Amino acid sequence: MAASTKRDYYEVLGVARTATAEEIKRAYRRLARQYHPDLNKEPDAEAKFKEINEAYEVLSDADKRAMYDRFGHQAVGGSAGGFDPFGGFGAGDIFSTIFDAFMGQGMRSSGPSAMRGADLRYHLQLEFEEAIFGTEKEITYQRLETCATCRGSGAEPGSDFVRCPKCNGQGEIRMRAPIFNMLTVVTCDQCGGTGRTVAVPCHTCRGEGRVRATRKVRVNIPPGVDSGLQLRLRGEGEAGVRGGPPGDLLVAISVKEHPLFQRDGDDIILELPVNIALAALGGEVSVPTLDGEETLHLPPGTQHAATFRLRGKGVPSLRGQGRGDQVVITRLVVPTRLTERQRELLQELASEWGNQPFEKRDGGWFSRLKDALGM
Ligand SMILES: [Zn+2]
Ligand SMILES: [Zn+2]
Repeated sequence: MAASTKRDYYEVLGVARTATAEEIKRAYRRLARQYHPDLNKEPDAEAKFKEINEAYEVLSDADKRAMYDRFGHQAVGGSAGGFDPFGGFGAGDIFSTIFDAFMGQGMRSSGPSAMRGADLRYHLQLEFEEAIFGTEKEITYQRLETCATCRGSGAEPGSDFVRCPKCNGQGEIRMRAPIFNMLTVVTCDQCGGTGRTVAVPCHTCRGEGRVRATRKVRVNIPPGVDSGLQLRLRGEGEAGVRGGPPGDLLVAISVKEHPLFQRDGDDIILELPVNIALAALGGEVSVPTLDGEETLHLPPGTQHAATFRLRGKGVPSLRGQGRGDQVVITRLVVPTRLTERQRELLQELASEWGNQPFEKRDGGWFSRLKDALGM
């Protein structure tokens, strides 16, 4: 193809001559998606796709772009030539790379591929009261930290960095797809896109840049937390790679059961055993709360499963102010062992009350049942 018949590369990508690297990359991705021969069945899609890749190949490289700006197509060698196809890659690899780029993974890395450190999860068990009133806990865990010897570079102090042999210092590898004669660019896996590798690996981390270390951290547990809640401690996870930010530490909370109390959101539930005499006559009873003993007045004729609310004696609200309530639920307790005196008293009561649960009016419920059944 003669240079004179070639379209201007900026025109091909539809960007201004002053476009930034990011604008060029965006334009390229949009057009590559539009004209990819797998997706676009128009007859000239393949030719357009090649043209787009060729333009991007030049304009995405600062040096080649400068040459092109000054001298035009002849400066950069016509059809994006001059790069040998990279051996050892099949078409499948190349297309998966293109697919990654379409998915927004980034086909091309402009700089060192910094990577965020991993998040870590710590399971913290709290006592019932600790979860309600809050506390401070010191937790100890293992994580990868930036190596102090090499400050994360992976190089032995005093030793030099050398040009990466795999990508020849470019930080990226260019491959030509055998089918469309199309160039694609991937980040070099040996140097992670930095274009350099260490001459002598750091003796502490063996070139990893990170070392396993024990970390102690104090965690402030706010009042009102409950099982299933997760606190995020920013930056307390694993160290990043190649200058990437650290991950977070997630503290997953679980709360131990209490022998008396149960939690229902911000309310505390207490089951209160009540004997039949207290239930019938009413009276004062002392009940445990999170803040100590409280006096509860039971009215005469208190039934089983009656509820009483002690306002503000529940859990402090995790968001905002105020506290929930303590809900007291009565449970009528029937005695199973009686003293002689108790038996006498109950027998007297029994003869007063009688044994019939239903009143014997109009011949009683049994005769009415017989009538209904036609017996
Ligand atoms: Zn090191
Ligand atoms: Zn490399």
